[in-house]
Amino acid sequence: MQHSHDYLVIGAGMAGEAAAHALREAAPKATIALLGAEADPPYDRPPLSKKLWKGGKEADIFRPIDKARAELALGRHAVSLDRAAHTVTDDTGDTWRYGKLLLATGGAPRRLPFGGDAFIYFRTVGDYRRLRALARPGKHFAVIGGGFIGSELAAALTLNGCKVTLLFPEPGLCARAFPSALSAAVTAYYREKGVDVRPGLTATGADGGTLALSDGSTLEVDGVVAGLGITPNVQLARDAGLAVDNGIVVNERLQTSDQDIYAAGDVAAFPSQALGHRVRVEHEDAALTMGARAGKCMAGVAAPYEELPFFYSDLFDLGYEAVGTLDVRLETVEQWVTPFREGVVYYLEAGRVRGVLLWNTWDQVEHARKLIAAPGPFNAGNVRGRLPITER
Ligand SMILES: Cc1cc2nc3c(=O)[nH]c(=O)nc-3n(C[C@H](O)[C@H](O)[C@H](O)COP(=O)(O)OP(=O)(O)OC[C@H]3O[C@@H](n4cnc5c(N)ncnc54)[C@H](O)[C@@H]3O)c2cc1C
Repeated sequence: MQHSHDYLVIGAGMAGEAAAHALREAAPKATIALLGAEADPPYDRPPLSKKLWKGGKEADIFRPIDKARAELALGRHAVSLDRAAHTVTDDTGDTWRYGKLLLATGGAPRRLPFGGDAFIYFRTVGDYRRLRALARPGKHFAVIGGGFIGSELAAALTLNGCKVTLLFPEPGLCARAFPSALSAAVTAYYREKGVDVRPGLTATGADGGTLALSDGSTLEVDGVVAGLGITPNVQLARDAGLAVDNGIVVNERLQTSDQDIYAAGDVAAFPSQALGHRVRVEHEDAALTMGARAGKCMAGVAAPYEELPFFYSDLFDLGYEAVGTLDVRLETVEQWVTPFREGVVYYLEAGRVRGVLLWNTWDQVEHARKLIAAPGPFNAGNVRGRLPITER
């Protein structure tokens, strides 16, 4: 079957949904289609590892896509893109002709070379449903990965009465993002909460419910869930000859190397004015703001993408927001009101603030953005105390 639309969006995730709304607003009479590989309509992913384990309802995670009045084709995977013909072909053989195209294909979880489909690589609401059905009180799970997803899932399962062994190669939780003392404090806090945290240890093989570990020991579990990061879904773009470099390369209008094709969300590598280089951000705020901006740009509204997205997470009772680059290879300056419970961490490079971690410190995201945009020069002496700024 052949379809034809003014605007076609590949990927019915958070960025795709935001783009559909922006397109509808900017082009009330246009025809819009959204093609998505998942069977579910667009939904928020962050609650899958947070709210839904603390009494939140699954029905509340779905986004209001109906209002965009777009044709929604779910359970369809776009398999090829013919730029000359302006068509996309899906896995049922249907072709979709577009005037302008948005690639909002997100990312796919990294997988281990063993364990097969018995391991849950946590990304979708389908993965959530599967884990939820297994996560009965008293069940023992191995959570592999000590980054954001692994640490959130370990907390979620523990809060729901499961026994959790958390395995990761780094010396502490979120050790690539947090300074070592904070990472050590979070690791200790997880242990206090009952999580069996095993830093410096990885799984090396699996045989049914038995995991082989890198120290030669084994671990008996009822289930394995992994959060090992994602790789951006760039295949469609790469096969079609679009510029790809750790994500689909876009300009400040979120346009790829083909002027009729745009990209947004986890898959897009955009030029960040504030950071001074191209970045790819795997966060909700980026997906929503970039999706909306891409929709506007596609509809011809001049709207360059200049945001510096923020990120947030909840770890048991701890919560934080963060802006910019959180990388411990940068110089970190810690400023605590209460050590590891409330404070700010600044990430510095070449006299500039490149990232800010707001640890149980709220309403400071805009101020943190301004600090990152400020020319400086900043150092450990003069950056301390810049945040929080209290509004009068
Ligand atoms: C469990 C979890 C918790 C998270 N928590 C936070 C958080 O606390 N804070 C935060 O800022 N961010 C969080 N994130 C990250 C955030 O959810 C992502 O950054 C966001 O979902 C990215 O949106 P996207 O639209 O770019 O990609 P996605 O939401 O991944 O959507 C892409 C969609 O495209 C589809 N697709 C891919 N290829 C094709 C194809 N060829 N044809 C058709 N469809 C295709 C995929 O199936 C998918 O549905 C979390 C993510 C997860 C998984």
